[in-house]
Amino acid sequence: MTPSAAEVVLFMGPPGAGKGTQAALVAEARSLTKLSTGDMLRSHVKLGTELGRRAQSLMDEGVLVPDDLIIAMVRAELDQMAPVRVLLDGFPRTTGQAEALDALLDEIGAPIGAVIELKVDPDELVRRLVGRARAEGRRDDNEETVRTRMRVYEDQTKPLLDYYRSAGKLKQVDGVGATDEVFERIGEALKAGAA
Ligand code: AMP
Repeated sequence: MTPSAAEVVLFMGPPGAGKGTQAALVAEARSLTKLSTGDMLRSHVKLGTELGRRAQSLMDEGVLVPDDLIIAMVRAELDQMAPVRVLLDGFPRTTGQAEALDALLDEIGAPIGAVIELKVDPDELVRRLVGRARAEGRRDDNEETVRTRMRVYEDQTKPLLDYYRSAGKLKQVDGVGATDEVFERIGEALKAGAA
């Protein structure tokens, strides 16, 4: 049975922090729909849609797809949900996206419950991303693009952590360890008050 109350959880963290894996587990455990903007864009690329064509070269370079395209894509999904029970993985990534999300959730009447930041040190991130490149063959996991994606995270996405910290929503979780250990930590963080 789907719970009837709205719930919105955000997952943030640098590329390679394990967001995708943990987001899937947490979404399943809490009966939330996982929306990963990266996965959505990759499926647009695969299907050859107009959005996919516009996004592909930006994704290959490791830079962000323009806010208006991303916001429209997320809005279309949230508009279909009643109640809105969603785990957003990889969105928002810019101040503009965060503000648009606030406005959208305000409209819908579904406030952000928690923002999980998965923390992993940079050396460990590079090791993981190189491993993932071999295992999954993702085109944007080569060394140069990985470096760009990390810089983009530092410059454009990290400032959002302060935004959510000030709002009392940020919960920082150590992302190093076995999958089930990290999952436990996230569960605890979601139970506890904001960091
Ligand atoms: P991810 O799978 O989340 O690492 O995303 C892969 C790529 O998709 C990123 O490097 C960006 O080019 C693009 N992307 C995913 N989510 C967003 C977003 N919220 N805003 C802008 N670009 C995004």
